[in-house]
Amino acid sequence: MHDIRFKCGKCAACCCCAIPVVTHKDVSRLAKATGMAPVSFVKMYSPREISLDLDHEGWVKMSGGEHIMGLKQKRDCCVFLSGDDRCIAYKARPLTCRTYPFDIELDRRGRIIALGLQQKASYKDKSCVAAPRITHNNNRVIEYAKKEDREDRSYWEKCAQWNKSPRQKHTLKNFLTFMGL
Ligand code: SF4
Ligand code: SF4
Repeated sequence: MHDIRFKCGKCAACCCCAIPVVTHKDVSRLAKATGMAPVSFVKMYSPREISLDLDHEGWVKMSGGEHIMGLKQKRDCCVFLSGDDRCIAYKARPLTCRTYPFDIELDRRGRIIALGLQQKASYKDKSCVAAPRITHNNNRVIEYAKKEDREDRSYWEKCAQWNKSPRQKHTLKNFLTFMGL
């Protein structure tokens, strides 16, 4: 078992340096917690707009080519980041936000096969000051990683189904409906 210890400096660089890619489950929790309609906080990004491998399983067919679902941006940062650098959806934040800055790879049975740190977030004058430490017991970040892995797989299955439905009109509204949102 691994233990991940982590002290966040609350600088918010990680909320500004990359677009969080989300699943239907993340979106459902965010909508419930904030009372906002998914269409007001998600956006389908084209490969030109987001830095992500094209073999990622979250790419879906939309009008205008392949896109991937992420949180909208406001003044170059996440739409949920407040003016004083706090996450206004913290209790329902996506799993990708919960596991940052760790890079945890699991096998199909949920066993850890690789554990490391992601690239350090930095944005304008801010840079990640988290003090992560990986030791050998269990903790909550790993539980989040396991949940993220399960939810990613179920989302990608739905994405594959969407991609196989050629008659579907490939709009954001239809995609969200297809995902049960
Ligand atoms: S959802 Fe919250 S924690 Fe995640 S990037 Fe947005 S502001 Fe940051
Ligand atoms: S960039 Fe690092 S220190 Fe800053 S909020 Fe994110 S995890 Fe915390």
